[in-house]
Amino acid sequence: DSAAWDRETKSICPFCGVGCQVSLKSRGDRIVKVDGIDGPANEGRLCVKGRFGFDYIHHPHRLTMPLIRRDDAPPKGLNVDPGDWSSVFREASWDEALEAAANGLRGRGRAVAGFGSAKCSNEEAYLFQKFIRQGFGHNNVDHCTRLCHASSVAALLENVGSGAVTATFNEIENADVAIVIGANPVENHPVAATYFKQFTKRGGKLIVLDPRGQALRRHASHMLQFRPGADVALLNAIMHVIAEEDLVDRQYVAAMTENWEAQREHLRGFAPEKVADLTGIDAETVRDVARTFAGARSAMIFWGMGISQHVHGTDNSRCLISLALMCGQIGRPGAGLHPLRGQNNVQGASDAGLIPMFLPDYASVLSEDVRARYADLWAGDGGHAGEILAEKGLTVTEILDGVHAGDIGAMYILGENPAMSDPDVDHARAALASLDHLVVQDIFLTETANYADVILPAAAFAEKTGTVTNTNRQVQMGRPAVPPPGEAREDWWITTELARRCGLDWRYTHPRDVFGEMKQVMNSLSNITWTRLEHENAVTYPSLSETDPGQPIVFADGFPRPEGRARFTPAEVVPADEVPDADYPMILTTGRQLEHWHTGSMTRRSAVLDRIEPEANCSLHPATLRRLGVAAGGHVRLTTRRGTVTLMARADRAVALDMVFLPFAYVEAAANLLTNPALDPYGKIPEFKFSAVHVEAA
Ligand code: SF4
Repeated sequence: DSAAWDRETKSICPFCGVGCQVSLKSRGDRIVKVDGIDGPANEGRLCVKGRFGFDYIHHPHRLTMPLIRRDDAPPKGLNVDPGDWSSVFREASWDEALEAAANGLRGRGRAVAGFGSAKCSNEEAYLFQKFIRQGFGHNNVDHCTRLCHASSVAALLENVGSGAVTATFNEIENADVAIVIGANPVENHPVAATYFKQFTKRGGKLIVLDPRGQALRRHASHMLQFRPGADVALLNAIMHVIAEEDLVDRQYVAAMTENWEAQREHLRGFAPEKVADLTGIDAETVRDVARTFAGARSAMIFWGMGISQHVHGTDNSRCLISLALMCGQIGRPGAGLHPLRGQNNVQGASDAGLIPMFLPDYASVLSEDVRARYADLWAGDGGHAGEILAEKGLTVTEILDGVHAGDIGAMYILGENPAMSDPDVDHARAALASLDHLVVQDIFLTETANYADVILPAAAFAEKTGTVTNTNRQVQMGRPAVPPPGEAREDWWITTELARRCGLDWRYTHPRDVFGEMKQVMNSLSNITWTRLEHENAVTYPSLSETDPGQPIVFADGFPRPEGRARFTPAEVVPADEVPDADYPMILTTGRQLEHWHTGSMTRRSAVLDRIEPEANCSLHPATLRRLGVAAGGHVRLTTRRGTVTLMARADRAVALDMVFLPFAYVEAAANLLTNPALDPYGKIPEFKFSAVHVEAA
């Protein structure tokens, strides 16, 4: 079929944090085929999304012109057909649209907030946070890490001094034991899952801990389907056994850690017999898992949203860090901590400072030295560079609360879809509707763009240049294969033009210029140059020299904390915010499906993926469906304290009897109409993984 294409461009898959390298085969202005190539994370492999999920970029719904809300538009609401918006918006030139966008933002200080995107490049993430900070003098800027791994990052920064993984997932090939907890990599990180399966084929022991069953079960030496929300109790019980049976790596603990005595004392209260009712796992199984992990030569721990999206998400991660530390399983081949990142550039966007408490490379906004460094760096560009508030900004969910409180009146949202992705989404939609000025920059007229005053049409991944950083800390080069449609432009260009109209003297002419500025303040990019990335495609940070491809494992000689020591932080059991009761007796948990990505704006416009999974669905145990009198494929109504959705029910023995699993990609049955906005107090992440729900036949 090579006759169908005449150009080949190396780039990066736009979906998950694995960061597979792809070859985009194109002809004219269309991509016709995608193949995997030999990137450091994927070695030629791709999953169904990477291979077939590219055609959304050619969908007729693509935004091709800037749009401005019509004077006679109906009141703001979810009332725009993304294929026929003419009764609500009118086309405008870039000049008119940028001026209108800037007019509603300019000079409004703390009344402005921004959501950037983990799907944009590192350079675009850096520019977005710079625009809010320099343009408005505060830190009310965030992105979807707040809904993803914010709690994991909070625990990692607290206890090992760095929010990134300590070892690449490919290091599993050097491990003999691995734990996967609260993650479903076969569906959510499919190419990483192939490495996990190979590991078991070579004799590696895979311990899967998950309230919901999953496909890795077939490859696992241990599968513990524990009670939802009992993570801390289960992990403390595992650690209790390791301490009680003297399986601790005492030499490592003495040399490399602090606060062990407090942790050991804390664990005394978690005998597996004592917490068996809470966890649903018998004591002997817990002991077996503890001995298997502690007996490993090299062991890794992988986790996902099942750990992070709880009101005790930070405590969950604290436990995983403690488990690795007490067994000395960090800083060696085949050993380490790896929170599997969701979006393709959520690691890079966080590194670039797209978060309200940190400037790039996790430099605290509270530090006078840090703010002074940025005042110097940005001094020539005007704006508020020397006056950035010494105050943490608001997070994603707090910003929308701030809108309801009347503190925030204008927002700039790039590539995020809070009208689908926020918990208790009616609350988010009401906030968006009440803004007096909303600028949305995206490739489609998303649910969030329904509420916009100005819509700026952006380029998709295969139409732009820029670097992205995957879950493995690999900084990779994305390249354009085809031009953007119509008047759509690259995000860095749009943000630059908007900033200029808001009074900032920005003169970037290419993402390379932005990358050069980032290197002046980001040690993580030491020895990584634009030229290297153009030639090598990927460099892992930290890179120790201009010829070093980067370090897959970090912290062999100590941690970036006082005295180089990691810390044990004991974690208490905290119940779910909303415990099931007579009115709402079951547990709702949400997540992704293999074929659909997040809020569905891309994959539901991809022909192959939408044909495989065309309909909103949820999963319940067959016995639960029988009890409800619903046949598999029939319809159920799910109701929580916040809303109701009706959708098709699938029978799935992996789901516990009192649980329902609901993917969040379907606007017609939006999972986040139902979810609980209660937050983890440290990471400020909502409890997407546990809401009390009533289920009935529809
Ligand atoms: Fe893309 Fe992730 Fe699939 Fe790789 S595993 S092809 S990065 S979605």
